[in-house]
Amino acid sequence: VTKVSASAQPLKNADELIDSVETFIFDCDGVIWKGDKLIDGVPETLDMLRAKGKRLVFVTNNSTKSRKQYGKKFETLGLSVNEEEIFASSFAAAAYLKSIDFPKDKKVYVIGEDGILKELELAGYQYLGGPADGEKKIELKPGFLMEHDKDVGAVVVGFDRYFNYYKIQYGTLCVRENPGCLFIATNRDAVTHLTDAQEWAGGGSMVGAIAGSCQREPIVVGKPSTFMMDYLANNLTRPLVSNSSLMSLFNDRFGISKSQICMVGDRLDTDILFGQNGGCKTLLVLSGVTSLSMLQSPSNSIQPDFYTNKISDFLSLKAA
Ligand code: PLP
Ligand code: CA
Repeated sequence: VTKVSASAQPLKNADELIDSVETFIFDCDGVIWKGDKLIDGVPETLDMLRAKGKRLVFVTNNSTKSRKQYGKKFETLGLSVNEEEIFASSFAAAAYLKSIDFPKDKKVYVIGEDGILKELELAGYQYLGGPADGEKKIELKPGFLMEHDKDVGAVVVGFDRYFNYYKIQYGTLCVRENPGCLFIATNRDAVTHLTDAQEWAGGGSMVGAIAGSCQREPIVVGKPSTFMMDYLANNLTRPLVSNSSLMSLFNDRFGISKSQICMVGDRLDTDILFGQNGGCKTLLVLSGVTSLSMLQSPSNSIQPDFYTNKISDFLSLKAA
């Protein structure tokens, strides 16, 4: 059965949307910032939502930084955001391993950057690979056999600007020679915007290389997979400022209910799908990679509930 979703509506009354939910999940790039530049009106908007007692959560598919490193980025941009409010796909990889009780005596082979290493370390996992393998070369001689650590029980792949053939072969050996070895992807974004001049190959390109050689599909922990949404719903138990004491008791004990969440993002196939897969309300902002004509193109089947230019529209869009 294919779900035919109604076309997205332009957001007209922001207060109505704000009052209808208790939590906002914000995607980062394209919503809060663009690269290293803060998007206009973000600090005032977040302040207003906090003053209304809304819970704010920040989710990013960019695995190159850890939660702590993102905390610094928010601070540099003048935003006061707690590390516990940040859910990057680097953190999601470590949280996934914890959620399945991945044994501490096994190792993780990492294809990716520093953020994944930092999160694995914090979670108490042993790892190898990462940027340290960026310089490695394979010297092919007749009979050459590449060895690999047989204690590797999971290969985690994310965006990696130091990607090379050594890493492909090492990751492939781990996965192919041990059917029990997990293959985890932080995200599969096709492209990313390292500069605003063009689109750059995203994390999906590294994941695709390993999937291609292993002939196996990864477990994706970033958007649009439901892992992070379920994790959020189960683990966010900070009590909310709420008029209903019963409601806050409920939140304390069980985390957030998904119908009380609005997912705000700039990308249809990650953010909006993530919100929809999680049963949340969805708002597309046009401050990132998606234009109005892309949203309204007949070839696009992903329709958020609402769309608007940028999150600071929350401050001006009032009922007529
Ligand atoms: N992956 C990489 C490597 C990126 O540079 C970006 C955006 O900057 C993303 C993913 C997408 O990030 P987000 O989910 O915050 O839009
Ligand atoms: Ca984004």
